[in-house]
Amino acid sequence: MGWRLVVATNNRHKLAELRSIAAMIAPGELEFLAPEEVLGSPWEGVEESGQTLEENAYLKATALFEQLYRPVVADDSGLEVDALGGEPGVRSARFAGSDADNRRALLERLSGVPPERRRARFRCVLCYRDWFRTVCVEGVVEGTIALEERGQRGFGYDPIFVPDGHERTFGEMEPWEKDRLSHRFHATVALLEFLRHLDEEEAAEPPPGEIALPPWIPWLMRLSAVASRAEQTEQLEELLVGALRSGVPVRVVAETLLQLLLFAGFPAAIEALRCAQSVCQRLGLPWEAPEVDAADNGQGGLELFERLYGEQSMRVRERLRQASPLLEALVLEVAYGRVLARSGLSLLERECAAVAALAVGGWWRQLRSHLRALLRLGIPPERCTELLAELRPYCNQQLWERLQVEWQEVQRWG
Ligand code: IMP
Repeated sequence: MGWRLVVATNNRHKLAELRSIAAMIAPGELEFLAPEEVLGSPWEGVEESGQTLEENAYLKATALFEQLYRPVVADDSGLEVDALGGEPGVRSARFAGSDADNRRALLERLSGVPPERRRARFRCVLCYRDWFRTVCVEGVVEGTIALEERGQRGFGYDPIFVPDGHERTFGEMEPWEKDRLSHRFHATVALLEFLRHLDEEEAAEPPPGEIALPPWIPWLMRLSAVASRAEQTEQLEELLVGALRSGVPVRVVAETLLQLLLFAGFPAAIEALRCAQSVCQRLGLPWEAPEVDAADNGQGGLELFERLYGEQSMRVRERLRQASPLLEALVLEVAYGRVLARSGLSLLERECAAVAALAVGGWWRQLRSHLRALLRLGIPPERCTELLAELRPYCNQQLWERLQVEWQEVQRWG
């Protein structure tokens, strides 16, 4: 089968190298696409705030995946110089400024350092992301830093890096020579090996124009609907057994129930999580209680809020602030920053579960915002209608009719 992965980068050099490496090692099997080929405009990128190449690759892959909902890969790479304690490393792109400034600064820092103490390596981390998995692979090329710049080819630090076993710098080599030796080559080989092991169907590209939803979204909606009401233990247990037996990952279930704390209150969330834990025990599945993860620093709150509310965001913030400045801070930092921005579920999964809890709770105004968010995330309206139909068994007649009205209004007026 063919793999067509969108690369989360705006660096044309990286993309060109990845493409020629793929054409060399897996012609017709692996193809890399530029984000603008799919988005129709350049990718706006994401702040590379990670402390490691892995973290940055993960941030880039996740951001693009959440925009496209199709398999993506991100490249984060850098040069590590032993005499500088591994610098510039993750800061390679921003060491001094432009590529030329970076090279000059590095040579200056190494002036007087003899050839035998100029060891360095390029490291490349590729992060693959699809609906079910996030995987990082790595490639390394060892070498030394030349005494001065040589060659004009390539990019970045190429004119000052001499790979082991060669006399010439990457900047002096033909592109195809570098592409057989480089860190990017080794990482791509590892990526290909991983892809070949994947179930073909799961990672297949969705048909053009159709957004791919994880298959368990209806389960998340049903679980969220039932668990957000008090005293529904039996029905909840039954649903949990159904979901877990159908292959919904324990992590996905746990994350869905955790966020009930925002939409149905923490007593509902506690009960639901305890119920899920005991069902897992009964089924012999290892329980994964949601933990504080590294990404939970609350900083993504405002950004996420603005993305979901779009041009309404200022107005909604104003409403929050008028109610209480503390409420505004809690919503942005805790609700959006620490819960909704967690990495355990995609935004789309969270939104679907939120819609279910708000609909059965009759929180119409909030529901409208989250229905708009579903549309803004790219789910076609017909698909939203189908998803809402999952809630029919959990609504009485009055609630169901009101839900239809609200949905029609959102579709008509946005
Ligand atoms: P990134 O966008 O954070 O991955 O930045 C990578 C930076 O590392 C680039 O801007 C280059 O300065 C450097 N770099 C990574 N790979 C290479 C390479 O193959 N040749 C030269 N410099 C590279």
